[in-house]
Amino acid sequence: MARYIVLLGPPGAGKGTQAAVISKELDLAHISSGDIFRENLKNETDLGKLAAGYMNQGLLVPDDLTIAMIGDRLKRPDCVKGALLDGFPRTPAQADALAKMLAEFDGRVICVPYIYVPAEVLIERLSGRWSCKQGHVYHEKFNPPQQPGLCDVDGSELYQREDDQPATVERRIKVYFEQTSPLIEYYRAAGLLMEVDGTQPIDSVSEQLLAAIRKVA
Ligand code: AMP
Repeated sequence: MARYIVLLGPPGAGKGTQAAVISKELDLAHISSGDIFRENLKNETDLGKLAAGYMNQGLLVPDDLTIAMIGDRLKRPDCVKGALLDGFPRTPAQADALAKMLAEFDGRVICVPYIYVPAEVLIERLSGRWSCKQGHVYHEKFNPPQQPGLCDVDGSELYQREDDQPATVERRIKVYFEQTSPLIEYYRAAGLLMEVDGTQPIDSVSEQLLAAIRKVA
């Protein structure tokens, strides 16, 4: 049976950073809905144009578009044995749709690590965040690159995400608490939630996440 891991947490909790570590360690495909939307935006696809209006305002892209996009992604060969989902699902309707899609190819969610971080910390983290085009993420205070403005991994230039502007950051956090946080209870009730304190150093969070996942994977 194919096994899928859903990484849950507010924007700025470190999902992308941790997903990169976990997917490498466990040799699993890393599916980031935000990265797929940004890729579509960059390539000016129809989906990218539709999603842009929502993303730039810090709102969620509608469920039907998001579910269809992830459904296509999950059909690709690298997801056959399972995958790590980062940023999806973000609503209970998406979580229901995910369970249905996975059941179609004999897969299921085996655990939901939830990285929790208080709201005030999230604002500080998101507004100091810089990334390279390959998705390596830094923070000017908490995780600075060795050379300012350049990625440690590939040397490319770092940029600030459009939706990391202060007003949009606040909206994204509000949207998270209103629309996504119900998933905490959803997955707790299913016995799948594993809580990890995301205010600890990056390496400690990775270790705890990996230890928790390895117990069930
Ligand atoms: P992220 O990189 O995960 O913070 O996502 C960036 C933006 O992409 C979000 O603020 C949403 O506008 C959109 N997005 C990403 N994942 C989803 C999702 N599962 N459902 C709806 N919108 C999403």
